[in-house]
Amino acid sequence: MIKINEIYLSVQGESSHTGLPCVFVRLTGCNLRCVWCDTAYAFHEGKNMNIDDVLGEVKDFGVKLVEITGGEPLMQDDVYPLMDRLIEKKYKVMLETGGSLSLEKVPRDVVKILDIKCPGSGEHEKNNLDNLKLLAPHDEVKFVILNREDYEWSREFVMKYKINESAHILFSPVFEKLDLKDMVKWVLEDRLPVRLQTQLHKVIWSKDAIGV
Ligand code: SF4
Repeated sequence: MIKINEIYLSVQGESSHTGLPCVFVRLTGCNLRCVWCDTAYAFHEGKNMNIDDVLGEVKDFGVKLVEITGGEPLMQDDVYPLMDRLIEKKYKVMLETGGSLSLEKVPRDVVKILDIKCPGSGEHEKNNLDNLKLLAPHDEVKFVILNREDYEWSREFVMKYKINESAHILFSPVFEKLDLKDMVKWVLEDRLPVRLQTQLHKVIWSKDAIGV
């Protein structure tokens, strides 16, 4: 059984797959408490489902791109058979994870979106740096950036661990907290090899919209 907060069809709002139709499977529960968290509703709410029922709901949407997200999806053991079964059925599977738990058991075909928590989140001491050795070229490393201090911290992290040599890098300003124009200016000044991410779903709907 797996505890699911919501399953819905939308356009992918983040990552290098932004704009593509995507089915989102949001698992309940998170071991972190980022100060700017936009999915606190997934900390506890949800219903227990068996994997066949999850696969059935995903199939009904008729879209072959699926993102497993949360909360922190790696907190539940049944996320692994769920990812295996989706891959068997020829879905392209993305996994969004907060970066504190190990990626070791995640199937290689899954596109991992690994958060590196910045100091502004309040959770940067929980980053599991061993995960950096487990990245595949199709994976993406995401920094959610609250302010100039977070930007400088992320820039040093990218350089120190040479992240651009092992995965794509996403810099995502905290919505309505950091001006996109400031972020663009800083990235261009530093000629940093990172991709700006805007959380498209919040631009289309609103920052509080759920299930879209
Ligand atoms: S890891 Fe994600 S779901 Fe968990 S508190 Fe941080 S932003 Fe929220």
